[in-house]
Amino acid sequence: MGWDREKPAAEHHRVPAGLVTVFEFLNTCDLRTFGGREPDDELARWLGVCEPAQYELAVALRRTLRAMARANRTGELDPDVAAELDQVGAALPLRARSGGDGTLGLGAVDDGVAGTLANLLAGVVVASADGSWARMKECAAPDCRWIFYDHAKPRNGRWCSTAGCGNRMKTRAYRNRASIS
Ligand SMILES: [Zn+2]
Repeated sequence: MGWDREKPAAEHHRVPAGLVTVFEFLNTCDLRTFGGREPDDELARWLGVCEPAQYELAVALRRTLRAMARANRTGELDPDVAAELDQVGAALPLRARSGGDGTLGLGAVDDGVAGTLANLLAGVVVASADGSWARMKECAAPDCRWIFYDHAKPRNGRWCSTAGCGNRMKTRAYRNRASIS
């Protein structure tokens, strides 16, 4: 299956609706360098006009959530990341809201960029509770690191694309073994 450039990336990766914004936010940091790509950072464009302090907060939120997505694959979360997320969370207050149909949801207290970031964090809290967040992972290929949604039943997916990154890494490992022996 080839990459359809007309399709949004979230659709290509079949990201559940509740995590599409989170997926797009985390991948504003595009570290893919395979095939001669240049790393790119779309965060400023994604956020729109904002104060430097809010931009810093967005960078910190993205960095900690990306580290957590990496931990979703490796099972190892740096305690410093957990502490930083708590700090970022304190700057992004949330409140319980009636869904209007007897359900409750989480929403931002603030407006503007801080509100956008808080709503994004609320999405991660909800996804963390329903188990879908555990499937958001960082691709294991060091020249990719794209955040993807792991559809594998046993939740053991390592690559954003088995045909792309998976094959490239396996071929590289094979070549390395062949050159050692
Ligand atoms: Zn990848």
